[in-house]
Amino acid sequence: MARLKGIGPGHAPMSVDEAGARAVSVAAPVAGLQTLPLSQADGRVLAEDIRAGLPLPPFANSAVDGYALRFGDLALGSETRLPVLGRIAAGEAAATLAAPGVLRIFTGAPIPPGADTVVMQEDVRREGDVVVLPPGLQRGDNLRPAGEDVAPGDLVLSAGHRLRPQDLGLLAAIGHEHVTVRRRPRVALFSTGDELTEPGQPLPPAGIYDANRALLRALLARAGAEPVDLGILRDDRDSLPARLAEAARDCDLVVTSGGVSVGEEDHVRAALSALGTLDFWRVAIKPGKPVAVGTVAGTPFLGLPGNPVAVFVTFAFIARPMLARLAGALYPPLLRLPVRLGFSHQGKPGRREFLRVSLEQGVDGVSLARRHSGEGAGSLVSLVQSDGLVELAEDLPPAEEGEIRPFLPYAALLG
Ligand code: AMP
Ligand code: MG
Repeated sequence: MARLKGIGPGHAPMSVDEAGARAVSVAAPVAGLQTLPLSQADGRVLAEDIRAGLPLPPFANSAVDGYALRFGDLALGSETRLPVLGRIAAGEAAATLAAPGVLRIFTGAPIPPGADTVVMQEDVRREGDVVVLPPGLQRGDNLRPAGEDVAPGDLVLSAGHRLRPQDLGLLAAIGHEHVTVRRRPRVALFSTGDELTEPGQPLPPAGIYDANRALLRALLARAGAEPVDLGILRDDRDSLPARLAEAARDCDLVVTSGGVSVGEEDHVRAALSALGTLDFWRVAIKPGKPVAVGTVAGTPFLGLPGNPVAVFVTFAFIARPMLARLAGALYPPLLRLPVRLGFSHQGKPGRREFLRVSLEQGVDGVSLARRHSGEGAGSLVSLVQSDGLVELAEDLPPAEEGEIRPFLPYAALLG
């Protein structure tokens, strides 16, 4: 595993991009493979390149319900009358069209040898056993040639691709019943904090319910991992290391939330220093400054902040690339979409800030971003009531109302 030199306990906050890259470099793809039926492969990461073993479509066929004909039998510039010589439905072997005439044909039926054009049934007049064809048809109309989409041997999907419904459709179309994927990374998940209580239990004085595990279980699952929920860790300097080490033994990554900052009850970094390595723990991101990345007993470790919005945002930019690496998945750059700001905002230079916004249809077609009034890093309701994040880069001047800035929809951060 490639290891980066740690950067020291009191380091300056690291840029989001460097933190993401370092998090990736701590992880290596899991080794195990599984062969799954297509019905179980949605969302899984392909472990092999897939080449087509046959052309798509496999044979030339009709794109419409109509009549197959030989273009050379048509009169140029006037109607043509031709006899109907037969009929081919989808799934039937094609008869040959050897004489002037047409064959009734249906969508997906093979083009009869000899024919080179199909006319839509809506475009002809049928008079008994004769069709009257309009002038102006083009050779090759309404015909899907063999191999038009895919030629035999084409690379249709690459190793590392995360399978989506349309990929499964394509795999089926080229005749695959199974596919070889990587096993999902097993991710140990803890919350830390003496104030935390399991939902469903009575809430003690000064207690709050543990929101982060519910959030993170689902974020991890959507990112293609298998969460192993290990519950709540108390803010106890003595027991923390053993629990983390135990989790590291049979998981590919250990994730915690909370306890990673500079408070006296923040023991996660100390545990990491005792048990493994700490690459960095401060990131120039808002919300979310404390994020620790390192290893515990040789297993990659990710310590997320405690505030739920900070968890959500740092997960998007640091955990996701790390998880993709563990999963052996390609990680294409996140595409930002342009939106117009419906507000001004003075950020803090040197730190990348993400603002929760809802979108409205703008009059000029560009979406208008409205900032959510709940700005706190603990405001889960602000995440629930917004559509995505406006990104304010580290080095740009303050954002002014009416400016175009980059936006990331939540949907793009949850795949
Ligand atoms: P910490 O970094 O541990 O000091 O936590 C920062 C803030 O996040 C505190 O207000 C915590 O109560 C809160 N917090 C930490 N963990 C959770 C959790 N699992 N669910 C909800 N809030 C949390
Ligand atoms: Mg805490």
